[in-house]
Amino acid sequence: MFNDTSSEVGEEPPLSSVFESLKQFKSAGRGYWVDVPSEDWNNWRWQLKNRITSLSQLQRLMPTLTPEEHAGTLLADTKLAMAITPYFFNLIDLADETCPIRRQVVPRIEETHTAAWELRDPCGEDSHSPVPGLVHRYPDRVLFLVTDRCASYCRYCTRSRLVSNASGYDFHPDFDRQIAYIREHSRIRDVLLSGGDPLLFSDEKLEHLLRRLREIPHVEFLRIGTRIPVFLPQRVTEALCAVLRKYHPLFISVHSNHPRELTSEVRDALGRLAEAGIPLGNQSVLLRGVNDDPALMRALVQKLLMCRVKPYYLYLCDLIAGSAHLRASVRKGLEIMESLRGHTTGYAVPQLVIDAPGGGGKVPINPDYVINRNEERVLIRNFEGTLYEYPEAADGTPMVAAPREIEEPELV
Ligand SMILES: *Cc1c(COP(=O)(O)O)cnc(C)c1O
Repeated sequence: MFNDTSSEVGEEPPLSSVFESLKQFKSAGRGYWVDVPSEDWNNWRWQLKNRITSLSQLQRLMPTLTPEEHAGTLLADTKLAMAITPYFFNLIDLADETCPIRRQVVPRIEETHTAAWELRDPCGEDSHSPVPGLVHRYPDRVLFLVTDRCASYCRYCTRSRLVSNASGYDFHPDFDRQIAYIREHSRIRDVLLSGGDPLLFSDEKLEHLLRRLREIPHVEFLRIGTRIPVFLPQRVTEALCAVLRKYHPLFISVHSNHPRELTSEVRDALGRLAEAGIPLGNQSVLLRGVNDDPALMRALVQKLLMCRVKPYYLYLCDLIAGSAHLRASVRKGLEIMESLRGHTTGYAVPQLVIDAPGGGGKVPINPDYVINRNEERVLIRNFEGTLYEYPEAADGTPMVAAPREIEEPELV
């Protein structure tokens, strides 16, 4: 061993009290909607009907609206519509122009600043679509886009070309054609439903789709990508859970970026899904001014575990047109990964990935823990920076001890 340190566990810097407070599960509260009857507030269809979708609503509800947000909202309807559920709006700190919740859903004029290397379809999905609404990028699994609608719209949406239909893409999935393709390709064992948000469908429509997919013998595994539990936890009813649990193995990937999004309402909704036997993962996007901070990210992943959710992927923000103001660096991503591995529960550590621009798929990005190799050993470092050697020959064969000289037994 190089630096022979004692086996004592190093002192961890404590999370500051600000980050510690982010671990509390508070309700989003009612905000402007205190007079709305509970049965409306808790009804997901009421939440959808009362979303904030126009500049005039935003001006009324957000006295601190900045000129950049004002101008951005005016233009949103030609690019990616604005929609914010009243529930999620209540998480915005109206006094804070830099609020991380606000940055995710309130449009800004920077969305119209586009660079040559930014793309309308950053992951090259359209070029990997054998039939509209089905992306077949990896050999054994497909991405099945079921709708162009979400409960609220993330300003950095990788699918903004089609989501909300503001730019006139006119996405009309044809389930018959999509399902026929899956049926005809027996290599497809994993179907990922996304969009848009599949959990916006009625229970009946969702069940119909799940049933048709389950009827295909080679489809082993189903999953749903959704931000509904975060934007609209009211949608996660017992009736929905009763439908989902009939189609196991079914996993759900949620999308949460900031510990403040994990309210008591969200924790309870995730708990209902977990009680239905659904393994839960989380996908976060690394966003500048939202979650590009090691202590904040640690609070997020630990709080996710408390919600029975395993952090799955941490994405570098795709090169979607007009997202430069929200993109954080690869360097920052690596710094965050180093601050997590070893410093917190292994289950809490997501995989950092870049979805390769142009359509290469997800590429894992990892800090280097192998320092170098030579003829007889691999030199590694641990999370504290201490170096260790792993004996191994250059060609990878394990080092074997030289045979010990065997003494001839003495003959009497
Ligand atoms: C992300 C993605 C998948 C699923 O990838 P996993 O690494 O299995 O989670 C499948 N298809 C497409 C097109 C994707 O973008």
